[in-house]
Amino acid sequence: METKLVNQQKTIALVAHDNLKSELMNWISLNIDHLKKHKLCGTGTTSSLIRDKFKIEIESFMSGPMGGDQQLGAEIAKGNIDLLIFFWDPLEAQPHDPDVRALLRIAVLYNIPVAQSVSGANYLITSSLFNQSYTKEVPSTHESLKNRVDYFSKKET
Ligand code: PGA
Repeated sequence: METKLVNQQKTIALVAHDNLKSELMNWISLNIDHLKKHKLCGTGTTSSLIRDKFKIEIESFMSGPMGGDQQLGAEIAKGNIDLLIFFWDPLEAQPHDPDVRALLRIAVLYNIPVAQSVSGANYLITSSLFNQSYTKEVPSTHESLKNRVDYFSKKET
């Protein structure tokens, strides 16, 4: 493990499945002043809707079913996302369910706070950590890779 500094200004990823998009939009409209202080990004459709409605800067990745969830997962693994607000649909299967699972897995692996519903998002945004810097433990990818290479090199000989 290694210690990572999470800055006061965070990068927040926002994603909502189709049946939850209006719920996310409502939540954002209630919290826009807090969210505006941070860097925002999201999957293609969700982020475009947010940009159009709230006239704010937000980085867009691909649409979720087209690989956007995987792109967000890669950004998390690279340490570029600090928080994930992901309103996924508990009542409808998605064509990209494996990607959804992978995104949630990678968020847990890298110790990213994840909100999966309005009440979870309310907890996150009212946390004192939301607007301050703090440190957290994340897996050391370098150490993990080295251990694996050592292990398999020894096995070979
Ligand atoms: P979308 O993707 O924002 O492009 O709709 C969300 C998702 O399904 O993960």
